[in-house]
Amino acid sequence: MPVADYKTYCRMIDHALEKKFAYPAINVTSLTTANGVLKGLAENKSDGIIQVTTGGAAFASGLYLNDMPLGAISIAEHVHRVAERYPIYVALHTDHSLAKMLDHYVIPLIEETERRRAEGKPNLFSSHMFDGSDLPLNENLDIAVKLLERCHKNELILEVESGVVGEVEDGIKGGGGEKLYTTPEDMLEVFRRLNQVKGARYFLAATFGNVHGVYKPGQVKLKPSILKEGQEAVEKAFGKGARFALVFHGGSGSALEDIREAIDYGVVKMNIDTDTQYAFTRPIVDHMMKNYEGVLKIEGDVGNKEKYDPRSYMKLAEAAMAERVKQAVNDLKSVGTTLFGIGR
Ligand SMILES: [Zn+2]
Repeated sequence: MPVADYKTYCRMIDHALEKKFAYPAINVTSLTTANGVLKGLAENKSDGIIQVTTGGAAFASGLYLNDMPLGAISIAEHVHRVAERYPIYVALHTDHSLAKMLDHYVIPLIEETERRRAEGKPNLFSSHMFDGSDLPLNENLDIAVKLLERCHKNELILEVESGVVGEVEDGIKGGGGEKLYTTPEDMLEVFRRLNQVKGARYFLAATFGNVHGVYKPGQVKLKPSILKEGQEAVEKAFGKGARFALVFHGGSGSALEDIREAIDYGVVKMNIDTDTQYAFTRPIVDHMMKNYEGVLKIEGDVGNKEKYDPRSYMKLAEAAMAERVKQAVNDLKSVGTTLFGIGR
């Protein structure tokens, strides 16, 4: 199927909210990692989300150009081409962009979508994240409202964040302390402001103790009940059915019961990066250790071309990444939930 269009993407979100499952949103940085995600989704018959960080996009453009929008466009165009042959839907998303990065990343990509739409072509990306969590909430939402208006005009979904996700992801440092936990008051304010953009769709990354990167078990104190309290406050204030489509950041190393509980409270998108990074690299390490004498030219020898051909280990890495995606699909209860072939 082609990349999910806006209507399909909205259906995907509603489907997940209704059936209480979530989509894996996996960070990719290359053709190979994108292909690994698509393989994993297809094999477990789940729709899903492929996303690109600012750093991942710069990397994808190549070391010489080091151009974020160009790298993101390259990955997106590849996914648009190959996704047509997969029996699932995939949406394309850009991950964290702080306010100061918007003009260098998200805005050029929205402009690209605007150009494409003017030519009658489908959108480039399906959604974008604006991370204003380093700003006071009112400033965060002033920017978010403006951006949401522009996104809505172009049939794009916006992801916003309230509270702060701890630790480092692509050079973005989260704070710590109380802001790791979003308050019901914050969530009410996000709802009040963003729902003024009539008919627009958005995701909220409400933090509940999340940290980026991987930690030993027990070091991450997640409190999914924060999400429950926030959703209940919003329903009470804005009426039945007023609920957020929530995003789970920094979930690496989380206990399965915390993940499942968060899904019960309206998480429909879970970001996955660290776990798939490790899954990708692990078989490469294995390959190098097992074939040490083949991948190196030792003491004037010629090595073994079959062993140092990057395809030999990149194929293993792609397959391992696909397996890790399948595990995520299992954890998030999205196995077999694809809307592909289900018309409406
Ligand atoms: Zn994140």
